[in-house]
Amino acid sequence: MLGTHIEAKTGRRGSGILPLIALVILSIAGCNQSNTNQKAASEVLPSSGKTKIVTTFLPVYWFTKAVAGDQADVEILVPPGTEVHEYQAKPENVRAIATANVLVKNGLGLEKFLEETIKNAQNSKLTQIDASAGIKPLGEISPVVNTATEEKNHNHEHTEGNPHVWLDPVLAKQQVINIRDGLIAADPKNKATYEANAATYIKELENLHNEFQQNLQNNPNCTFITFHDAYPYLAQRYKLKQVAVVEIPEDQLSPSDVRNVVNTVKKYKVKALFSEPGVDNKLLKSLSQDLNLNLQTLDSLETGDKNPQHYFKAMKDNLQTLTTACQ
Ligand SMILES: [Zn+2]
Repeated sequence: MLGTHIEAKTGRRGSGILPLIALVILSIAGCNQSNTNQKAASEVLPSSGKTKIVTTFLPVYWFTKAVAGDQADVEILVPPGTEVHEYQAKPENVRAIATANVLVKNGLGLEKFLEETIKNAQNSKLTQIDASAGIKPLGEISPVVNTATEEKNHNHEHTEGNPHVWLDPVLAKQQVINIRDGLIAADPKNKATYEANAATYIKELENLHNEFQQNLQNNPNCTFITFHDAYPYLAQRYKLKQVAVVEIPEDQLSPSDVRNVVNTVKKYKVKALFSEPGVDNKLLKSLSQDLNLNLQTLDSLETGDKNPQHYFKAMKDNLQTLTTACQ
């Protein structure tokens, strides 16, 4: 039907077929031209544009973004709200690293997905910054009570020491300094900006540290239980005692898990139980009521808002929680 319609049309126009071909050629040429332009634009962008920094997860993103400001493009590989400890790399992570100038990681074995991802990205010009360089890792300073069911899963996790250094404001400052120095080495023309931005953020970290010291000094040796071995650095800094009951299953507490927690509470004269934001606490809640302990929320800062200032908000909430719980 359509064919005959066109035939009939061109037939009526006689020599009208020639302008039609001309039009088609013209439009193909136009197409090619715009394609070439787009390609050229995207090829030019990285070299003429800002330094591209890829960070692994939220705290490292905050610290890097705070130092870089708008002087560099800062991306995050593990989206906030996604579990970092067991993260599996996505193809877009490989692409992000392949086109980056700088990669910033927390280190201390936290980013287990990274080694393979970097290998696959084949970016020989990539500068890597280990935010925990020079920080002495803690192994088992906190008593860690492994639940029977999860023991196997957790064993490999702390082979390079505990990675949660960002939860101690003093070590967070060390991480910011490492990131600052790494960025200056990779992108020296923006040295002054990186130094000024880092100085502002470091001042805030020092104020936060003072606030922690002042508020917690009246409650020495406050012992608390967490279900995520995230606070040994914070506890050591402010003379608290973390007992980590590691990885209680969120959906179901087995009788041995319950026994484990009860025994641990008795053994260490525990003052508080701390869960995490976003975890369904129904079972822990009833357990804490049975034990006559408050169940509260302590934030390991592995999820949250991407604004670098969120670090201070979340840490001040943690301080409030600890101060109240340890009284
Ligand atoms: Zn963690």
